[in-house]
Amino acid sequence: MANAGPIAIVIHGGAGTIAREKLTDEVEVAYRQKLEEAARAGYEVLTRSSKEKGSSSIDAVIAAIVVMEDSELFNAGKGSVLTHAATVEMDASIMEGESLNAGAIAGVRHIRNPIRLARDVMSRSDHVMLIGEGAESFALEHGYELIDNSYFQTPQRMRQLQRIQNTTTGTALSEDNSLGTVGAVAIDRNGNITAATSTGGMTNKRFGRVGDSPIIGAGTYADNSACGVSASGHGEYFIRAVVAHDICARVMYKGIALQQAADEVVLIKLKNMHAEGGVIGIDPQANVVFSFNSTGMYRAAIDKDGELEVLIFKGISD
Ligand code: ASP
Repeated sequence: MANAGPIAIVIHGGAGTIAREKLTDEVEVAYRQKLEEAARAGYEVLTRSSKEKGSSSIDAVIAAIVVMEDSELFNAGKGSVLTHAATVEMDASIMEGESLNAGAIAGVRHIRNPIRLARDVMSRSDHVMLIGEGAESFALEHGYELIDNSYFQTPQRMRQLQRIQNTTTGTALSEDNSLGTVGAVAIDRNGNITAATSTGGMTNKRFGRVGDSPIIGAGTYADNSACGVSASGHGEYFIRAVVAHDICARVMYKGIALQQAADEVVLIKLKNMHAEGGVIGIDPQANVVFSFNSTGMYRAAIDKDGELEVLIFKGISD
């Protein structure tokens, strides 16, 4: 295995309806700064990697996601959206593309950084996915502190819940009701690709509802021979479209570029299902891609030339 390949990281902070006119300058700057901080945190880990230190793309995606989980701006960790019962239940997953190892957790309520727990399920348990109480008892055994659910709840998410409960449709991505799921994909010097996703799910969801984000193949997938992908969008559709794996499978079976594969799934397949959302990805040559059919996707990348871009809206420089 080569030890000096190109490195790159791409992150998202959720795809959905982002109305330019509703985003004040102050809030837009806050998002752009946090996205940059998260991308840099992950990239910094990649620059320190070497063959001896092993697969740093795992540590890189964790570093990037933890920054966003700790920020109230995103629908993951602190600031997660609320269930119908006004509580927070979080899902997360991670997959490493060399071994095809994966870890996921769903419906956790007391874990400050769900992505760290998903990683520990991958590397310290015999299982791929743990849920609810079982996931939290595993966490306790591995030294995690269980924190009060109120830590995750914010007044802004409460207002959002009240707004949606006062409408007739219940759950929808039509407004910014679930916006802010976070994800990261990175490739390290060894050519190892890792993808990860973390979310509070969708506003007003039933308790116990699980979306695509912790489902390996739907919200997250990585295979060094094809690509790594993290998704954001209406989970019920993304699960049925097996979005992340379908994109990687198209790269493998059709021999097409990752951008084309992502566009086929996001702009055609999902669009035909009337499903809104998007994906980020990296291929084995460290090319970074974004694809989304919504009005926006909070996203950033540091590419193989070390160039940073931070984007929100549809335009390529937006
Ligand atoms: N995919 C997430 C879910 O359905 C939500 C999102 O990405 O906006 O739980």
